[in-house]
Amino acid sequence: MPVRPPVESVTARAPAKINLHLAVGALRSDGYHDLTSVFHAIGLYDEVTLAPASALSVQVEGEGAGDVPADETNLAARAVTAMAALTGQPDAVRIRIRKGIPVAGGCAGGSADAAAALVAYDALFGTRLSRDELIEAAAALGSDVPFSLYGGTALGTGRGERLTAVLGAGTYSWVLALADGGLSTPDVYSELDRQRREGPVSVVSDSTEVLAALRKGASDLLGRALQNDLQPAALALKPELRKLLSTGDDLGALGGVVSGSGPTVAFLARDDKHATALAAALSGHGVCRTVRVAEGPVPGARVVRPQG
Ligand code: ATP
Repeated sequence: MPVRPPVESVTARAPAKINLHLAVGALRSDGYHDLTSVFHAIGLYDEVTLAPASALSVQVEGEGAGDVPADETNLAARAVTAMAALTGQPDAVRIRIRKGIPVAGGCAGGSADAAAALVAYDALFGTRLSRDELIEAAAALGSDVPFSLYGGTALGTGRGERLTAVLGAGTYSWVLALADGGLSTPDVYSELDRQRREGPVSVVSDSTEVLAALRKGASDLLGRALQNDLQPAALALKPELRKLLSTGDDLGALGGVVSGSGPTVAFLARDDKHATALAAALSGHGVCRTVRVAEGPVPGARVVRPQG
């Protein structure tokens, strides 16, 4: 028996992620790569509002909204459909997404929307699903969706979906430099496979250094330890990212790395004042489309309205 929704709408928000470390293993026979990733949730958010309606619909607002599908292929819509199938509650829901996370930027914006839709649906219909059931639903939607639910900092293995929380001290100030246009994740992996077929390419070391820096809360060590196996492939597809990375370095960033499949580059600053100055300087050099300052780690997907 469907339970009548007690509120008219529920809004949840979910954070962007950056990868502090991303090691990509060999191509598996199922077409995926084994990954070891240190995910870090930062304070840049998408908001997803769900309201009961006569049919499922999707509306997307904010920067890059035109590049996000406003139909049943949208990851938030897929989350709603999955929750409806799992709980027997309606899938006739109006979905409104406000993008604050760069689209196709390597910051898991689509996964954030899926995670926000899962928790908003849970709150709207009072599904009483356990945390484990929500996480299972998240993993079925995409490898990065479980992390968007958890937030914080976590070590991911498998396709990135098997997570262990990373205990760490302190918060970090980041500058996100957003490039013109996005990069398709499958294209970046294909380029990496091509580069590896053509000859030896450097492979990142294990995550020991990043994890040690996080444990100590040492931003200078963390800055030096940032690494991403997908970076050479992203640089091959968007050569202008080289200039962006070297400019951040010249301007005193503690470290800089392409996030996930890019093209967003995350620069670590000493503190929030330094982050603001670094962001202004990067803008002034005209090496990226725009910049954002954000702190991490932050919690994962949460209901923000109505407040509990
Ligand atoms: P990844 O999770 O691989 O790091 P990304 O952060 O680079 O992905 P997203 O912003 O998640 O990129 O978008 C990747 C593609 O997914 C988009 O080009 C878009 O077509 C599709 N997509 C589906 N649903 C959404 C959504 N709710 N928000 C953004 N993109 C979506």
